[in-house]
Amino acid sequence: MEGVWEASGSSPYGGSWEAACAVLQAAGFDAVFPCVQYGPVARWDASGIPVSPDMGGDPLQACLDAAHSRDMAVHAWVVLWKLSWLDPAASDSFRAIHPTQVGVDGSPSDWLCPTDPANRALEIRILREMAERYPLDGLNLDFVRFPDGDHCYCQGCRTRFEQHRGAVVEDWPREVYFGGSLHDEYWEWRRSAITSFVSQVSEVLSEASPDLVLSVDVIPDTSEARGNCGQDWPAWCRDGTVDLLVPMNYTGSADSLAAWTRLQAGIAGEVPVAAGIGAFSTGAEMTAPQLVEQVGAAMDAGAVGWVVFQYCDRLASILGEISGGLGWAADRRRAGG
Ligand SMILES: [Zn+2]
Repeated sequence: MEGVWEASGSSPYGGSWEAACAVLQAAGFDAVFPCVQYGPVARWDASGIPVSPDMGGDPLQACLDAAHSRDMAVHAWVVLWKLSWLDPAASDSFRAIHPTQVGVDGSPSDWLCPTDPANRALEIRILREMAERYPLDGLNLDFVRFPDGDHCYCQGCRTRFEQHRGAVVEDWPREVYFGGSLHDEYWEWRRSAITSFVSQVSEVLSEASPDLVLSVDVIPDTSEARGNCGQDWPAWCRDGTVDLLVPMNYTGSADSLAAWTRLQAGIAGEVPVAAGIGAFSTGAEMTAPQLVEQVGAAMDAGAVGWVVFQYCDRLASILGEISGGLGWAADRRRAGG
């Protein structure tokens, strides 16, 4: 797995997947992760949901055509819950049916509430349709979690939690927030809500496309992931509900990346780990030698591969400086060449 994420609009070559795949293959990549779904907004030929106004044609099909003609794999990168791509004019009517998360201080947010049945059904319908309609090699889920410990405290979460425990919460959200008497119970409930969503996705995709690889982008640190974010990826690996773990090991230090990856590979057990490398993420701008070093560190630490964030002009530029391709350069470096 030598992959790269491509956010909409980040790709050089004016969005041409033909040109992009030629460059990426020459640089040693064998997989692309195009961002084709962002919350309820599609960049593919979807039914019943908004499509991105900049889409022009069918970007997912164009990516599949270009990649598959070169034996490269396509893992559709799906950003769950987030409404940033939704047309503001359609936002109010959409939110009336699909509740968004509420902060502990009552503040609104731009993320759908992941415990809401209508929101979960929408995401699952989108994933099923995509898997049934396109010859995808994989589906890559991002943001399978809460943003932080300050979410979600909406009325829907309150009602569902009260139903779950069979008793009302008198002082909401104080009792379930940090320091409250029901905090541990609430954390367990919201964690299990995310886990049951992943199980449902896994079941649906197994029916829709049995050979599809289900991967998840996860928070590197298990205590932050399982705690504040409700993202119990160790359980998903243990239960076999995911096929590939992609921890977002974004760091400037190859040693830190190796330490994280080694720990994660141990926890993931039978589930392979592809290390997410933040070459060009918020605040990061790697040089070619730094990228080669991190790729080598990931492989030394037991990863089956890596996924670089993200394909953009600057990445294309440093790939041009790496002769023989990224994987080859990393192997040569590991061998002391
Ligand atoms: Zn909620």
